[in-house]
Amino acid sequence: MTVKVHPQPAMPLLADPPPWNERPPPAAPECVGQSVLGNAINLYGARPANLLVIGGVHGDESEGIFLAHLLLSAGCPVLPCLNPDGALLRQRWNRHNVDLNRNLPTADWKPHALNPRYPPGAAPGSEPETEALLAALRRVRPSTVLSLHSYTESFVEIERAQEELSTALNEAVAEYTRAAGIERRSTVGYATPGALGAYGRDNGLLILTYELQRGRSHGELQGLLGPFLRLLERLEAERFAA
Ligand SMILES: [Zn+2]
Repeated sequence: MTVKVHPQPAMPLLADPPPWNERPPPAAPECVGQSVLGNAINLYGARPANLLVIGGVHGDESEGIFLAHLLLSAGCPVLPCLNPDGALLRQRWNRHNVDLNRNLPTADWKPHALNPRYPPGAAPGSEPETEALLAALRRVRPSTVLSLHSYTESFVEIERAQEELSTALNEAVAEYTRAAGIERRSTVGYATPGALGAYGRDNGLLILTYELQRGRSHGELQGLLGPFLRLLERLEAERFAA
């Protein structure tokens, strides 16, 4: 498939689908939940599948939200913006100022933030956006989840050793990281209790966290789309087994 990328799409990101995506999604999304402020959290291409793509866990990481919106017609299930309130407010957290990537019901969830930047919420799974993510996981029943973020440097993080993945999955990741000129890492370098990676370890899911380069123009994603769509195809082709 081909998707057209606009050099600098206009905000708001919350028009769903956004006006700058000229290839409309083939079907209406399923609403899997609502944010604190009542914004719909939509799942496109909802069906049982090996791969689920999510964007916008952190509302201020527009690069991932943008890329996820480009994939609405790619065929795989996509939840383009988990944190629409944060996207509206241009903040990392949801409207309760909770870091949704510390709020998942995991064995390692901690009630106190290890760092003021990462408030975990009142209880594991306390936030409506977390409920929406869990609803999407129940709907799609993926074995692999690719979560799109952005950071000061770009890399793909997989908290699993190479030996835990099949040759085909390792090759798919290696092919993409080579094409994008980025590293595969096994950790972000600090503990992330209540994060999707921990949820994946608890539940036998393979989690890929893709940190896009923050601040790059959205148009620069154009060159990565071919390899990226190929990565999605290959992740979808195989069911990861823990
Ligand atoms: Zn993030």
